[in-house]
Amino acid sequence: MTAALAEHARLIEALEATVGADRCLHRREQLLVYECDGLTLHTADPSAVVFPESRDEVQAIVRACRKQRVPFVPRGAGTGLSGGALANDGAVVIECSRLNRIRAIDPANRIAVVEPGVVNADLSAAARPHGLFYAPDPSSQLACTLGGNVAENAGGPHTLKYGTTTHHVLALELVLPDGSCFELGSATGFAPGFDWVGAVVGSEGTLGIVTAITVRLSPIPESVETLLAIFPDVVSACRAVGMVIEAALVPAALEIVDQRTIRAVEDSVYAAGLPRDAGAILIAELDGPAVALPAQIERVRELCGRAGADRVEIARDEAERQRFWRARKGAFGAMGRLAPDLYVHDAVVPRSALPVVLEKVCEIGDRYGLTLSNVFHAGDGNLHPNISFDRRDPDQLARVMAAGAEILKLCVAAGGVITGEHGVGTEKREFISLVFGDADLEAMQRLRATFDPDRICNPGKIFPTTRFCAESNPKARGYDRVPM
Ligand SMILES: Cc1cc2nc3c(=O)[nH]c(=O)nc-3n(C[C@H](O)[C@H](O)[C@H](O)COP(=O)(O)OP(=O)(O)OC[C@H]3O[C@@H](n4cnc5c(N)ncnc54)[C@H](O)[C@@H]3O)c2cc1C
Repeated sequence: MTAALAEHARLIEALEATVGADRCLHRREQLLVYECDGLTLHTADPSAVVFPESRDEVQAIVRACRKQRVPFVPRGAGTGLSGGALANDGAVVIECSRLNRIRAIDPANRIAVVEPGVVNADLSAAARPHGLFYAPDPSSQLACTLGGNVAENAGGPHTLKYGTTTHHVLALELVLPDGSCFELGSATGFAPGFDWVGAVVGSEGTLGIVTAITVRLSPIPESVETLLAIFPDVVSACRAVGMVIEAALVPAALEIVDQRTIRAVEDSVYAAGLPRDAGAILIAELDGPAVALPAQIERVRELCGRAGADRVEIARDEAERQRFWRARKGAFGAMGRLAPDLYVHDAVVPRSALPVVLEKVCEIGDRYGLTLSNVFHAGDGNLHPNISFDRRDPDQLARVMAAGAEILKLCVAAGGVITGEHGVGTEKREFISLVFGDADLEAMQRLRATFDPDRICNPGKIFPTTRFCAESNPKARGYDRVPM
């Protein structure tokens, strides 16, 4: 047996001692599933995947990895779109899906205490009998976990009114990379001293393993009104978004779906009876006291008309409302019809820049000869230019990467940032220098080192590994070697 094999055997033995052989995967064919997340462009082979069922087991795994000097990476449902849960450097994947208990729902204090493997939508379902819900609602909410949401500071269609995950997390239990455990924040929402919860939310699994989360629950609004406006093009839909915000309305959601996406949806199981010739649709949702909504929704209808909408429909009942949302939430799935691979981009621009930026994004897609579509959280200025492609074609792949880089630079030049909700992960670590200087990055690294001085927790994420000159060259970044 070679030294490397012997070392691997020792690691597996140590991991099996923590969770048992049936909760430790290490054969090549078992590990394949864990070689990537929702962004299939990047892959990395884990040494093993372990499934803890308690905080004590998480601590034991972390200590075993540490002893063997092997890095580890927490993983939720693997729906991440930035390669955040990738097992770089042969890391051990700590799969948190079995830490899935809702420990408490406390209506009097409007909070819930959950484990990180609880699926986002399951928490709202459990809170519903109490008249409560968990507000952050990523489009992946039927699958993604709250641990993944905390790590990515996930948003969703209703972020516009309710805020992102960070606005709903009150306290965390965190297993540090040395195996110790800390309680951060407080269930009251008030904690003296440094905002450690704020530091951990959005840290992309680089500071430790979250093993319990106390979240704020919100009252289910008395009434909801949903409107679907049909526009001749995406630019006029963007103009309507600006007008609604300028009118001091606070919609719960403002989402745009462009023509290419509409057609993919209508060809798919998510078909919602949308007009295939529409240039774009805008879904606007308002919620609150029943008495206030009719006037507000009429105002939105009027503004959409002024922005150039051909037609505006207001959902007559819950079934119709769900039909409108089906088109939006099924959009990424429907795009599987366009090509074998989908690169979901994620960047933010000031809302006022939306019309100009969208036009330029489409121009970039055309110039590179790519199938580019847009479905996005328009109210937040959070764009998702989606490129459908086939990664088996190296020329196409190179064009996808070059177009993606141009889109990011365009958004930053318009006063935006490189990610709204999917995180930096592996995908954008070489682009983080577009928004942060060396001194900023060094300060972040120092914070990280406070939690993880040896950088064994989720290595190779967020921070750049190459200098900027190499970034736009797909070969230099290894994209020419993406496995088929
Ligand atoms: C169809 C589709 C639609 C999507 N829509 C949205 C959307 O609307 N809004 C949005 O924000 N995102 C969206 N996403 C992206 C993704 O669902 C989110 O980033 C989600 O938060 C990831 O959760 P997960 O459980 O899948 O985490 P994973 O992908 O498994 O992991 C994501 C990150 O979390 C870390 N992590 C996981 N568990 C823990 C833990 N216990 N402790 C510490 N770190 C941990 C991992 O290390 C990794 O860095 C979408 C994805 C898809 C495929």
